Amino acid sequence: MTEIFTGNFTQQEPIPEEGIEAAVRVMRSGRLHRYNVAEGEAGEVALLEQEFADYLGVPFCLAVASGGYAMGAALRALGVAPGEKVLTNAFTLAPVPGAIAAVGAVPIFVGVTEGLTIDLDDLKAKASDAKVLMLSHMRGHLCDMEAVMQICRAHDVRVIEDCAHTMGASWNGKPSGLWGDMGCYSTQTYKHINSGEGGFLVSADPDLMAKATILSGSYMLFDRHLAAPAPEVFAEIKYHTPNVSGRMDHLRAAVLRPQIARLDAQCAAWNARYEVVNEGLAETPGLTCIKRPSEGIFVGSSIQFLLLDWSESAIRDVVARCKARGVELKWFGGAEPEAFTSRYDSWRYAPSEAMPKSDRVLSGIMDMRIPLTFSLEDCALIARIIRAEVGAVFQQS
Ligand SMILES: *Cc1c(COP(=O)(O)O)cnc(C)c1O
Repeated sequence: MTEIFTGNFTQQEPIPEEGIEAAVRVMRSGRLHRYNVAEGEAGEVALLEQEFADYLGVPFCLAVASGGYAMGAALRALGVAPGEKVLTNAFTLAPVPGAIAAVGAVPIFVGVTEGLTIDLDDLKAKASDAKVLMLSHMRGHLCDMEAVMQICRAHDVRVIEDCAHTMGASWNGKPSGLWGDMGCYSTQTYKHINSGEGGFLVSADPDLMAKATILSGSYMLFDRHLAAPAPEVFAEIKYHTPNVSGRMDHLRAAVLRPQIARLDAQCAAWNARYEVVNEGLAETPGLTCIKRPSEGIFVGSSIQFLLLDWSESAIRDVVARCKARGVELKWFGGAEPEAFTSRYDSWRYAPSEAMPKSDRVLSGIMDMRIPLTFSLEDCALIARIIRAEVGAVFQQS
């Protein structure tokens, strides 16, 4: 009997009832704008910022309209000017080079290792070309954070962390997002907490966060924040920083607050599913599992493996065979950008030199979402299907 999986790879869990009730209260109040608060009321957005700051153990947190907006605000707060070069990962998603391009800066791509993290030798070689690194922890793979920070400090490169896939993750006990100068998160539906669209910017640097707060569209209402720098910090900054509106509203914040409270439990649920898939794929001939360094605590909301040195037709065959059995694998190596996946050489507004070692890795990266709506049994079945189809194609070739 050929097993078929019938689950849906894009079906998320419902919003917690508490969040639905809070959202309805916000709608009944009519006060949706973050600065529209009643006498003595902090408002859902300020409370959310405080709760996420407390969760991470960071003094400042700003909730914004999207993860991409958070990255753009971080670049602006750091003073990145049009025409300047910004280092970033060759293995990432389109909004990352997009945020760099949006401030008129020029992405310089740094290669990827077989561990799917930034290539630190390539970073060393390119570090003197730029003043900022936008470090994307793509698909939750954290590089050696001590080593990357050492390289960047030695070259006077400031670091923005893109934590879209590492909310809840840490390296050597320190949360992802607190290593660099600023950390950016997304609360978009496919990330670790879900408000449809949304994001956070965090930092321990008061000047950077005061700039980001004015940028986000606080007008002169920054004293209504709970996790923002003290009003004195804004004294000069408020005259020099443009308003580039990208605020979060009370409705989304209401939906998110109970999700912060259950985030660690969700991460544990993802990791239990990840383990089942990962174990099911171990030692499959032709397939390379990604090694996770023991210093990192990751969130297994998706899984990657490599089909290194496979031909394009063999990879397409695996994707088609898995799809026929209900398992949706994405391939990062395709020459044409498809759905959410694209390669650095398909971002033609940011031309780059070819990186043969990285290209070899990129052309073998297979990627699969693990929604929490899957059970552990679902995950075991999915692994059996991938294993069988990779095996069948590998034997033919
Ligand atoms: C989703 C994502 C972003 C951007 O987040 P949005 O909220 O969609 O703007 C940035 N980086 C990575 C790696 C992402 O996956």
